[in-house]
Amino acid sequence: MNGASEADWQRLEKTVAGRVLRPGDAGFRESSTPFNTRYASTTPNGVVSAASHGDVRHAIEWARDTGVGLVARSGGHSYAGHSVNTGLVLDLSALNTVVADGSTGLVTAAGGARMADVYAAIQPHEMAFALGNGASVGIAGLALGGGSSSTSRKLGLTADALVRTTLMTAEGEVLTCDAQENPDLYWACRGGGGGNFGINLSFTFRATAVPDVSTCLLLWDGADAPAAFAAVQEAARHAPDEFSVRLGVAAAGGSHPVVSAVGLHLGPASELRELLAPVLAATRPVREDIADRTFWEAKDYLLHETSAGAFAVRTNFAAEPLPPEAVAAVMSRLAGRPGSGNPDGCGLALYTWGGAINRVAPADTAFVHRDAQFLVSMDTSWTEQDGPDTVAANLRWLAGLQEEVAPYVGVGAYQNFIDPDLPDWRTAYYGANYPRLVEIKKRVDPDGFFTFGQGIGS
Ligand SMILES: Cc1cc2nc3c(=O)[nH]c(=O)nc-3n(C[C@H](O)[C@H](O)[C@H](O)COP(=O)(O)OP(=O)(O)OC[C@H]3O[C@@H](n4cnc5c(N)ncnc54)[C@H](O)[C@@H]3O)c2cc1C
Repeated sequence: MNGASEADWQRLEKTVAGRVLRPGDAGFRESSTPFNTRYASTTPNGVVSAASHGDVRHAIEWARDTGVGLVARSGGHSYAGHSVNTGLVLDLSALNTVVADGSTGLVTAAGGARMADVYAAIQPHEMAFALGNGASVGIAGLALGGGSSSTSRKLGLTADALVRTTLMTAEGEVLTCDAQENPDLYWACRGGGGGNFGINLSFTFRATAVPDVSTCLLLWDGADAPAAFAAVQEAARHAPDEFSVRLGVAAAGGSHPVVSAVGLHLGPASELRELLAPVLAATRPVREDIADRTFWEAKDYLLHETSAGAFAVRTNFAAEPLPPEAVAAVMSRLAGRPGSGNPDGCGLALYTWGGAINRVAPADTAFVHRDAQFLVSMDTSWTEQDGPDTVAANLRWLAGLQEEVAPYVGVGAYQNFIDPDLPDWRTAYYGANYPRLVEIKKRVDPDGFFTFGQGIGS
């Protein structure tokens, strides 16, 4: 319901210290447009750019009074555009202070901080925890939905490094959530997903010292996909926790598919070369770049911002490497892709899982996916200029790709690569942890004030 009158909006403007932006105002689009332009046509009635925790409380109270729906927005990177609605967007991006303490290893980030803010605070202390792959991704969305990174096999998920979070409830109460206080909410905030329980005002993580590292970038022609997938998956399976890789195959426009392996090793390039020797012996890449780097150089090397555009992503978790017949099916799907105007094209990628991620029991945090070897991510993209037929053909293609891969993967899906087209999302994202999440939701937000398409308890 969007029942606010102009007088209500004026009242909101007078109450908050930050700005209230309405359609047409300067900065309105920047503070409300979703990263995924598939949802760019969703326009809120207003945006509050919060300047303080008091503003967050005022915005919640105002939304409750008027019946206007409210969603929080930090980095705005929700794949399903869940940080924009047709009511009120609570833009937290100005609340982005990050304080890192080198002596305790504790890092406290405000609820609207982005990855770049966190990196800038931790780099002087030569310490890190698992952080994602995009400079503008919000720490809130990342941590609340798990958060995987190329350091996760060694350091666990972003959520696994979380020692405390403060959360403002729908009643405007601020709760400290950690192992001692509100332990249920602390549990839920480690994998339960953004937008479900309240507005997280701060996150405190434990970071650890980082070593110098090495990276690899290997590229093959699509024709070598069967050999490259077999060899890289096999190497990854036997690799120590220090190694992780994103192994993908993608195609755009009329070009041939390209296979890529982008990896990080928390050790020297000499070790990484040894680790990859069986891969290089099995199939020669057309490009091979294996190099020593500082942790921070590697972070920049691995940082990845998908280009602007509209996209859809489906995920599953694989307990075993994809066998040759699965890779063959993927290549045949890629050959039959409908195409679009987006240079990102479409494809499939495997992210190494396991290691420290799987040493946490599935019920110890809300993040249930603790027994996989690979996260399997399938995607396609298009532009706003592509017509509805092209969009529909791409979505059908993606669904078909997932069907091809289904026999080789589990039913779980990654809640941070949130997929609005996933019917059985409750089981897929949360598995056996879902009933406990619903029970916590009922206690902390009995009216279901915080809600969205795949909100817990909806
Ligand atoms: C370019 C790119 C790179 C990525 N890289 C990685 C990666 O390396 N690893 C990984 O695991 N994931 C990655 N992701 C996925 C990412 O973790 C999710 O999209 C995440 O939800 C984004 O968080 P956000 O704060 O940027 O998004 P938003 O859209 O702002 O928020 C996501 C959800 O959380 C809610 N929310 C936002 N702020 C708060 C808050 N303070 N309190 C409570 N709820 C809140 C929103 O309402 C929304 O429902 C990537 C995504 C993109 C687009």
